[in-house]
Amino acid sequence: MNSQLKNSLIKWPSLTILSLAITFWSCEDQSPESDLLDAQNEIKVVDVTTHDGRPFRTQSNSADGRFTAGPGGGVMMQGFYWDVPAGGTWWDVVESKTAAWSSAGIGAIWLPPVSKAQNGPYSMGYDPTDYYDFGDYNQNGTVETRFGSRLELEALIASAHSENMEVYADIVLNHNSGGALETNQYTGTSTYTDYTGIASGKFPRSQHDFHPNGIHSNDEGVFGGFADMCHEVPNVQDWLWGRSDAVGKYYKNVMGFDGWRFDYVKGFGPWVVNTWNSNIGGFSVGELWDSNVDYLNWWANEANSSVFDFAAYYKMNDAFDGNNLNLLNDDMMWKRNPYKAVTFVANHDTDEIWNKTLAYAYILTHEGYPCIFYQDYEAWLDKNKLNNLIWIHNNKATGNTSILYTDTDEYIARRNGYGGNPGLIVYINNSDSWVERWVPTNWNSTQIKDFTGNSGWYPTTQSGGWVKIQCPPNGYSVWSPNI
Ligand code: ZN
Ligand code: ZN
Ligand code: ZN
Repeated sequence: MNSQLKNSLIKWPSLTILSLAITFWSCEDQSPESDLLDAQNEIKVVDVTTHDGRPFRTQSNSADGRFTAGPGGGVMMQGFYWDVPAGGTWWDVVESKTAAWSSAGIGAIWLPPVSKAQNGPYSMGYDPTDYYDFGDYNQNGTVETRFGSRLELEALIASAHSENMEVYADIVLNHNSGGALETNQYTGTSTYTDYTGIASGKFPRSQHDFHPNGIHSNDEGVFGGFADMCHEVPNVQDWLWGRSDAVGKYYKNVMGFDGWRFDYVKGFGPWVVNTWNSNIGGFSVGELWDSNVDYLNWWANEANSSVFDFAAYYKMNDAFDGNNLNLLNDDMMWKRNPYKAVTFVANHDTDEIWNKTLAYAYILTHEGYPCIFYQDYEAWLDKNKLNNLIWIHNNKATGNTSILYTDTDEYIARRNGYGGNPGLIVYINNSDSWVERWVPTNWNSTQIKDFTGNSGWYPTTQSGGWVKIQCPPNGYSVWSPNI
């Protein structure tokens, strides 16, 4: 009895004995290769991407040469979650992880907003008051931020750099909070828009720098009633990216940040990030919280920036939790432009995917720049499994993607290799039984193995590349030549 039939027996106990007997008899009666002929008739290879196959980013194409990664590119760690412990210890916690993360193959860390915010020692940083107070001024009720002191932040960045990792700052450009009250000539009321008294003395701003201000009544979006910055104002542009000690230049040249995660980019035009990037440089990704691929791709092109792949996030949620892996055929940002897609399974704001290990197997074998959520890695999932997938990503996940097979609970895709690297075949199984299928590989008469160790098979591909692979229940396997 083959395993397909066993699956049927387990999954569909209501089938009649008669139909089981017929199925059983017909399978046993087939020649050993007839299921190969079935597969050759059934499988339609769909080329999902057709670029030249370069990895997203490796040391050789990193601007500063710091970023280290294998031929598959790099992996990013989101180095926080919502409401990390307060008390000024978080930078030390992250610093204590840098060596282990680096040896696991993680090439970059995304930190929460590093500057002093209105809620002082309790703030997660998304209500910024003073972009240049890194926990070194007594302001908003505290010297240190929730995460620590400036010296602790600098030590963390130095530690990450010594481990050949980049560090990305979370940049909140839409809104400010914590200004003093002033009479506002544009609103005729009093507004908390006076930031001329901030402790660092850098980037003083007032009612003229926020909407409405005579230039603009508003822009693309306001956030929670916070003072909404107007990026057309020369003072704002000068202090964000123009002058030699502008926010972007200071964060890059003085603090040592290598890239940017832009918060709430729906709140202003993509030209703002585009202008920041052309003036400052470094890696860039925007939080455009939307599942519309056209919108994500438009923003990424207009902003000259990567964008979080919320389309893939919601599709994975529907596919893995809704038990319909056919949905993985749908459009996603990484399919439109893998070089501008940052894929993720959870973040500090949203954590809906229940079948997370399969989702990580998906993003770490496919194109795009995968981001791993701190809690998933450090607390909730099996770190050894994630480390194995990171290794596979960095060493085997190369080249364009072709989808080989999908149904409700099975998904098989092929990375076609690049520059002599053989690529891989990933098999994801969302059923409760072992499954197996013949698939077309790019490897002729080659012994392959499952680099996850989940399958003990070491099959050899036929001269035409076909081979039968298997996948454990509620799991995944990743196949590549046994070299
Ligand atoms: Zn404006
Ligand atoms: Zn706005
Ligand atoms: Zn957010």
